[in-house]
Order: sequence, then structure tokens, then C-alpha cells
Amino acid sequence: MTVSLDLTDKSVREVLKEGTPGAGGAALPGIDPAKKPLIGLTRTELAETLAQAGIVAEKQARMRASQIWHWLYIRGVSDFAAMSNVGKDLRAGLEEQFTIARPEIVAEQISSDGTRKWLMRFPPRGAGKPVEVETVYIPEEGRGTLCISSQVGCSLTCSFCHTGTQKLVRNLTAEEILAQLLVARDRLGDFPDADTPQGAIVPLEGRKVSNIVMMGMGEPLYNFDHVKNALLIASDGDGLSLSKRRITLSTSGVVPFIPRTGEEIGCMLAISLHAVNDELRDELVPINKRFPLKDLMQACREYPGLSNARRITFEYVMLKGVNDSLADAKELVRLLKGVPAKINLIPFNPWPGSAYECSDWDTIQTFADFINDNGYASPIRTPRGRDILAACGQLKSESERLRKKDRDALENLSLQAMMIAGHGED
Ligand code: SAH
Ligand code: SF4
Repeated sequence: MTVSLDLTDKSVREVLKEGTPGAGGAALPGIDPAKKPLIGLTRTELAETLAQAGIVAEKQARMRASQIWHWLYIRGVSDFAAMSNVGKDLRAGLEEQFTIARPEIVAEQISSDGTRKWLMRFPPRGAGKPVEVETVYIPEEGRGTLCISSQVGCSLTCSFCHTGTQKLVRNLTAEEILAQLLVARDRLGDFPDADTPQGAIVPLEGRKVSNIVMMGMGEPLYNFDHVKNALLIASDGDGLSLSKRRITLSTSGVVPFIPRTGEEIGCMLAISLHAVNDELRDELVPINKRFPLKDLMQACREYPGLSNARRITFEYVMLKGVNDSLADAKELVRLLKGVPAKINLIPFNPWPGSAYECSDWDTIQTFADFINDNGYASPIRTPRGRDILAACGQLKSESERLRKKDRDALENLSLQAMMIAGHGED
């Protein structure tokens, strides 16, 4: 089943406009840059921060930290005043020095099929002016996937990717990475509204956000520490509780961080492969010059926890006349031999000025059939939303510079690519 965010559809709603009220009608002032964020700190950091602030006695710090953790990640509160089992004086002390506020939501779009897209604004934190990132939610039968960004812009320059034409503005902090999940859960009504006392088991059945993919803007392995802290908090069993098997990190191939991703985060891995020989991959994914295919494939073979039940996803964008021949498909099968793998064929998502075209439908079909016949699952449709994700990072990069008319033109281009993807499933 394919769902696309059809922006020409009258039922797509722009829910928020700048400066309008946010969730529950409350104004969304955004994050006060003068205050230290508590979201994104590990449990130990949280306890240390409280003790160092002088508002909690040292021996109470761990207990207070776990109380606050519960409010932040099980109840999803974004205001200290809601922490009813925290004394008034301590709440006032917290309020004075720290923030747990949500970012400003600049725009929220909802498609008739339930796909949602948010544009969030974070403080400059060294970037000179506030930064904006997009997050996309794609509901499917039995699951809901949230696509999260790790950087504003990207330092890499993959030739088919629009984000790659935007310089890296800055890394997102662990707080900002997690905020994308927290905002999505707020807006989807995905936090329990009934009181859930500490220690209570919160049912995970029926969760709206059941999966996350680090496939938004940026290269997550060039922001390893923040991504790691955010994902460890997202998968913490006493909090957001997302299974690590439902968290996928996509990398263009930052080889030295691949083993650490398995060992220290333990999530699923996706590789933006896109080419099966070094010559072409050097051109499409230039980081290949530093970490060539041989090294990349070895890191994949050695990925901690890899098994037939925990496969690596290889992403492969279909570029007309560039990487879409049967010879490429054969080489792909050879390259992946012995690696428990899934292959996602992504119809190229065009953008103004891009030098590529999407492969013809028949070519994509032939490519997919060959791979399927050789034992690899290779859905042509990108897993739903992939096109939106690709488009979404690209759109964001332009959203700072382009006028609405031009942004809309871009949206329509991505829509066309999504329709190609949808066609693939018929
Ligand atoms: N930077 C990371 C995470 C981005 S994930 C990475 O490169 O893996 C987004 C996926 O969309 C990547 O596989 C990326 O290569 C792919 N992509 C980028 N631009 C695209 C485009 N124009 N059309 C289709 N897929 C694209
Ligand atoms: Fe950066 Fe990924 Fe785009 Fe390459 S594909 S430029 S790594 S966001």
C-alpha cells in the first residue's frame, strides 16, 4: 500500500501557520536558548545536572532524575508545572534554570491518508539564526514510521541528493533529535492521557509511532554521539520504549562508525549503496573515495548482531542510464553474496537542476525481478514515505531560501516521484 502526501489534494491541510497555537490550543513559544535542556541527557547526566545545579541534594539526585525521566518520556510532559509529584520549590528551581519545552512548530501538513509533515524550528546554537528541520510520519497497516533528521544540511555531496547541495549548517543535538519524536507523539495523541504512576506498565500496543528511521536530512554517523544518545533514550525500556529492531539508521557509508553503531546503539542498519563499482560510487556517493566498497562491504559483513532475522537494508536509487542496467543488478547480487540483506529500490526523486532522471518503469521492474529471482526481497515501491523522506530533506534545505511559489513547485515534483513509486505496486 502506498500513501503519498498529495499536496494538490484539497484534503491536505496546513494545520499550523507561524505564530498560531499548537497542540491542545496552547501557544508554542519554542525553546528558550538561555536555559539548559534536560531532554536528551542520559540518566546519569540528568542526575549529575540536577545535583550540580544545587537544587537537589546529591543523594536524592538519582531518584529525582528517574521521577523527571518518567514525566518526560512516559507521560510526555513539556512543562515542569505538570510534574505533580515534584515539590513546588523544586519545580520553580527547575523552571528557572532548565527547559523541557517543545520546539516551535512552523508548519504541520496532514494528508487525507494520514501522512504528516512537520517543520520545526530550533534555536541557533551557533548557527547564527534559528534552524529548521522537517520530520515526516507515515502511517501504514500495523505500524507508523517516523523519519527523523540528524543534521541541518549535510557535509557530504551525493550528486543525486538535494540536501547535498546545501552546506552543513550544524549538527542537531540529542535534544533536537528526540524532540522530533516527542512532537510527533504529542501531535498524534500518542502519549497516555490517563495518569500512569511510576512503575506502571504502559501498553505499547496500538502505538502510533512504532518505528523510527534516521533518514531525514544529514549523515547520522557524522553526528554519532548525539544520535547515539537520542536513540538510546528512544529505546529505553522505562521510557519511550521503542524496540531497537524498529529503529533503522541510514548511512552513506561512514565505515569507522558502522561497528560502533552496532555495538553502542544496537539498531538496524541501512546503507545508501546506489552503485556497485567504485568508479560510479565515487561519483554518486563521494564518501566512497574515503571508504571504498570493499571496506564498506566488510563492515557490513561484520555488523554486530547481523542475522537472517536482522538484515541490512541496502538503498539503491534508480537513475536512468546510470546504474539501472541488468549488469548492475547482477553485480549487486554478487556484491551482497553472504550478507543477510534487503534491497530497497528507490525511484529517483527529481529536483530543479538535478542532472538525473528516474529510470523507466520497465527497467525498474526488470531490475527488481532479477534481484527477486536471486533470493532478495526488493520492493520497488520505496517503503512508504521514502520518497517523502528524500523529498522532505530536500524541501527543507530550500525552505530557507525559496518563496512559497517555488516551494510548491518542488512539492509537485516530489509528488510525481511518489506517483511513480505507487505505480510500482500495482
Ligand atoms: N544521509 C543518510 C541519510 C539520508 S536517508 C544517507 O545518505 O543514508 C535518505 C535516503 O534517500 C538515502 O538513501 C539517500 O541516498 C536517498 N536519496 C537522496 N536523494 C534522493 C533523491 N533525489 N531521490 C531518491 N532518493 C534519494
Ligand atoms: Fe548527505 Fe545522505 Fe544526501 Fe548524501 S544522500 S548528501 S549523505 S543526506
